[in-house]
Amino acid sequence: MRSSGASCQGGAPKQRGTANPVPGIVLAVGAHPDDIEFGMAGTLLLLRGGGWEVHYLNLGNGCCGGQKHGPEELSRIRLGEAKRAAKALGARFHPPFCNDLEIFYELRLLRRVAAVIREIRPNIILTHPPVDYMEDHTNTCRLVVSAAFAHAMPNFRSVPSRPTADYDITIYHCVPHTLLDPLRRPVEPECFVNVAAVLDGKCAALAEHRSQQAWLETSQGMDSLRARVEANARLIGSVSGRFEFAEGWRRHLHHGFSAADIDPLREALGMDYSSNET
Ligand SMILES: [Zn+2]
Repeated sequence: MRSSGASCQGGAPKQRGTANPVPGIVLAVGAHPDDIEFGMAGTLLLLRGGGWEVHYLNLGNGCCGGQKHGPEELSRIRLGEAKRAAKALGARFHPPFCNDLEIFYELRLLRRVAAVIREIRPNIILTHPPVDYMEDHTNTCRLVVSAAFAHAMPNFRSVPSRPTADYDITIYHCVPHTLLDPLRRPVEPECFVNVAAVLDGKCAALAEHRSQQAWLETSQGMDSLRARVEANARLIGSVSGRFEFAEGWRRHLHHGFSAADIDPLREALGMDYSSNET
């Protein structure tokens, strides 16, 4: 039962039905093509392996992530890469809404994201940290949080219009790259997911973003996408004190979204999930 206040209650309670043929539905939302692969794909693959229905949405089309092509050609290239990456993750692809660096916390985008959430009815949403080094990431997170908050609010109109449903949604924020916030302060994950068994799959999905290899070498001094993924997963794993390779997560406060004590990632992943005891 949701524990939200009266102001955010929707219509008649409508739980995800017992007739639901899958154990759960997860939606990953990134700002740009390859963000999901870097921070969230291992967890998606584990959920997929457990029978979950997986959905994949980037708000931005990737049009600014390179110097060799113009924005239209680059967004076309990156659309193909993102579709192939989603396929590699066993996810249903949802098309982007806007250009890179044009992801603002504004009504048009909020209505579009709300429609996707209402259509999919995810139990879990994975997205960026509430504060991250790039504003597109932070704004994506804000849009997702507000759109999810409105999942049971029929008086907020989505575009296209989709019916609301009153059920539990749990949002998990991935950890920022290198576990640092924009002011260089360390970020502590609340929980860890063991991605050792799916690291190859995560890297295979990332490898579909071929246009990004050279761009990241030039713009951010990264030697290779695979090396970056491994180093980051090893860093998070070392903080876990339990897993060699991990993804880290922080759970959004439940108010307005779900019952207080639910943690569906823990339920779904069992031994591959570990709380941060510190
Ligand atoms: Zn990004």
